[in-house]
Amino acid sequence: MTKRIAIYPGSFDPITNGHIDLIKRASKLFDEVIVGITQNSKKSAFLSIDQRIDITKETLSGINNIKVMSFNTLLVDFANAQNAQVILRGLRAVSDFEYEFQLSGMNKHLNPTIETLFMTPAEQYANISSSLVREILSLNGDISHFVPKSVEILLKQHL
Ligand code: ADP
Repeated sequence: MTKRIAIYPGSFDPITNGHIDLIKRASKLFDEVIVGITQNSKKSAFLSIDQRIDITKETLSGINNIKVMSFNTLLVDFANAQNAQVILRGLRAVSDFEYEFQLSGMNKHLNPTIETLFMTPAEQYANISSSLVREILSLNGDISHFVPKSVEILLKQHL
């Protein structure tokens, strides 16, 4: 039988409890979930790509069917190269919708065989974003509810 593989792409700068919630849910639905970490050309990264890969791997080490990789090609090409049938994206609020709708439409044009699937996190994670975590951190706020301890330690060291 064909392995059901999903790619969960993003900047993961840093990985948050919201991402982790989504990945755990997805890991029960797919044979394999590949967390694809990209350098987003529109955003300047806080953590380096290697730091993001390492901390994401460490954070997800308890889940068997997860792979963490970086990529710098078109998302649909990366998905194709990994034999993934699905691109997974998180929807937190209506504000995410317009961009995600456009992105999935473009990706469908580029490769109609790959489906985009949207998942929502548990309610308590719906307001978490990597950018707000970075902002709170830079102002010396408490980020312990939003990221795992190991991520908090890394971010504070990196600041
Ligand atoms: P990007 O730079 O592509 O937006 P992110 O790393 O910010 O990447 O997020 C990756 C994916 O995870 C996106 O689909 C985003 O909507 C989703 N996501 C981000 N934060 C959360 C959260 N708290 N709960 C659920 N999904 C989330």
